[in-house]
Amino acid sequence: MFASLLQPTWAGLLLLLATNLTLWLWVWRVPPIVLTVRSLPLGGLGLALPGLILLQDVYATEPVLRHELVHQQQMRRYSPLGTSLLLGWHYGVGFLRLRRMGRVAFWSLWATNPLEHEALRGMNRTEPLPKLIDWRGKRLGLMAKVRQVLRKF
Ligand SMILES: [Zn+2]
Repeated sequence: MFASLLQPTWAGLLLLLATNLTLWLWVWRVPPIVLTVRSLPLGGLGLALPGLILLQDVYATEPVLRHELVHQQQMRRYSPLGTSLLLGWHYGVGFLRLRRMGRVAFWSLWATNPLEHEALRGMNRTEPLPKLIDWRGKRLGLMAKVRQVLRKF
């Protein structure tokens, strides 16, 4: 089964490109949906997926939201597939390099990730937040509304 996953086909490539194009249009056309969750993998404070932002409930603050919004902008700029390839290259090559040196630490790779550097710089921006959608489908415009309306997932 895994061998078939490693053998690319034209149909698989077309499906991948069509999925990327659909998600790319989605992140351009639909405001991100914001959910709060109790925990995230690796203890992350937030997680951005195409069109979806997950915030750890106790850290659902405006700076963390702005950080994840920068990741949404990166998905618009590079497409979800392009962003995944950039992340895969950074973490894949970094993992192999660190493993050769005998140490593997996700957070050291995270700290050297250029996409994270850009998102960290975006945490203290002050321009108005873009339109957001909470998990019930309401459009949000201000962080005060985000805090007021977001419910624990
Ligand atoms: Zn980040």
